[in-house]
Amino acid sequence: MDEQLSAARKDMEQYASYAEQIAEKNLVKILEAFRTENVSTQHFCSTTGYGYNDMGRDKLEQLYARIFGTEAALVRQQIVSGSHAISLALFGNLLPGDELLLLGMPYDTLQTVIGIGREVPCSLSEYGVSYRVHELDFANPDLAAIKAALHPQTKLVSIQRSRGYSSRMSLSVVKIAAIIDAIKSVRPDIIVFVDNCYGEMVEELEPSQCGADLMAGSLIKNPGAGIAPGGGYIVGKEEYVERAACRLTVPGAGRELGSSLIDNRLFYQALLLMPQVVLESVLGAVFTASLAARLGFAVSPAADEIRADIIQTIAMENSARLQAFVQGIQKYSPIDSFVTPEPWPMPGYDNDIIMASGSFISGSSIELSADAPLREPYLVFMQGGLSRYHVIYAVSRTFADMQEQGLL
Ligand SMILES: *Cc1c(COP(=O)(O)O)cnc(C)c1O
Repeated sequence: MDEQLSAARKDMEQYASYAEQIAEKNLVKILEAFRTENVSTQHFCSTTGYGYNDMGRDKLEQLYARIFGTEAALVRQQIVSGSHAISLALFGNLLPGDELLLLGMPYDTLQTVIGIGREVPCSLSEYGVSYRVHELDFANPDLAAIKAALHPQTKLVSIQRSRGYSSRMSLSVVKIAAIIDAIKSVRPDIIVFVDNCYGEMVEELEPSQCGADLMAGSLIKNPGAGIAPGGGYIVGKEEYVERAACRLTVPGAGRELGSSLIDNRLFYQALLLMPQVVLESVLGAVFTASLAARLGFAVSPAADEIRADIIQTIAMENSARLQAFVQGIQKYSPIDSFVTPEPWPMPGYDNDIIMASGSFISGSSIELSADAPLREPYLVFMQGGLSRYHVIYAVSRTFADMQEQGLL
C-alpha cells in the first residue's frame, strides 16, 4: 500500500495550494469582522435567567451577520442541532396554506420536520404547510425547470448545499447563486433558504453573500471548529431571522431572550479557527478520496474535484466492508478508541445507521467522523478532522486493517 499512500499525499498537497488560498481569504474576512465589531474579552462572559441585554450574545450575532454578509443573525446555545436551526427557519417563515418547494430530497432528519413520506406529529405538513420536491440535476441544474416549478402559493424555496446522506453532488456557491438569480428574476417575493451545513468556509463566498435570504447550520459542524460545545445559527434578512427567533423563544420577545449559560469565548474562538479547521478537513478528505480510489473504490468527490463541502463518500459495496471502515475510524480516534460502533435505529433516520465519532464534542462531525446508513450501495460518509494528519493516520491504518482482514 506504500505506493498508493505516497501518491495520495501528493494529491493532497496539490489540492492544498488551492484550498490554502481560500482559508487565508476567509481568515482575513473574519479578522476584519472582529476588528470592525470591536470584540473584547468582556463579550466572553456568561449570563443567567432571561438574558436581556446579553452583550456577548448580541455581539456574536453581529459578528456572524458581518461574516456571512447578512442583515441579522441568530446564534444560540439553545439551538440543539442543525436540524433544529433549519426547523426554526422554516416554521418561523411558513404559515398554513403556504407551499415549501424543495430542490431535491432534503436531508433525512428534515423529512420528519416537513412531514415527507409519513405523518409525524408537529411537522410542517400537520400544521398545514404543503411541500413539493423538485428533482434537480445537481451537476447541471435546469434553471428554466426551476422557474416553471414555482407555484403562486410557493412561499419559500429550500436549497441544500451539501450532499447530506445521499449520493447527490454538493452544490457550489456559483450554482446556488445561479438558482437564486433564476428564482428572483420571476418571483422576487419568494424566500430562498439555504441549508448551509458542512459548507461554511469551503469556498470564498457563502450563499448568503450571493442572494440567499435565509441560511442555517450547526455549531458542531464547520463553524464550531471542534471547540464550540453545541448550538446552531441562522443568518439572513432581519425580518426572517426575527421570525425564526420568535419560534425559538416567544413571539414578541424573539432575539431579546436567551442567556449565555456557557461563556461565549469558545464560540468566538471557533469562528477564528473555522477557516483553518475546514482546510484540514478538506485536505483530509482529498487524501482519503485519492487513497480509496487507488485501492479500487468509487469515491465522490474525486481527489482533484473542486469541493463545495467537507463530505467524502466512498462506496463500500457491502455491509462488512462498510462496518469495518467505520469501526476503523473509531479505533483511530482520540476518544473512545476502544469502542466498536454497531448499526442502530437512530431517531429521525429511516435506515439503521452506523457512526464513528471518537470526538471531544459528542456527535461533532467537524472532528473526524464517519457515518453510514445501511443501504445500497453502502456509501460511507466521512467528514471532519481537526488535523489533516489525523485523517491520514486513521484512514491509512483503517485500510491496512481491512487489507489484513481480506476485506480489500
Ligand atoms: C448535518 C446536516 C443537517 C443537520 O443535522 P443535525 O444532525 O441535526 O445537526 C442538515 N442538513 C444537512 C445537509 C446536514 O449535513
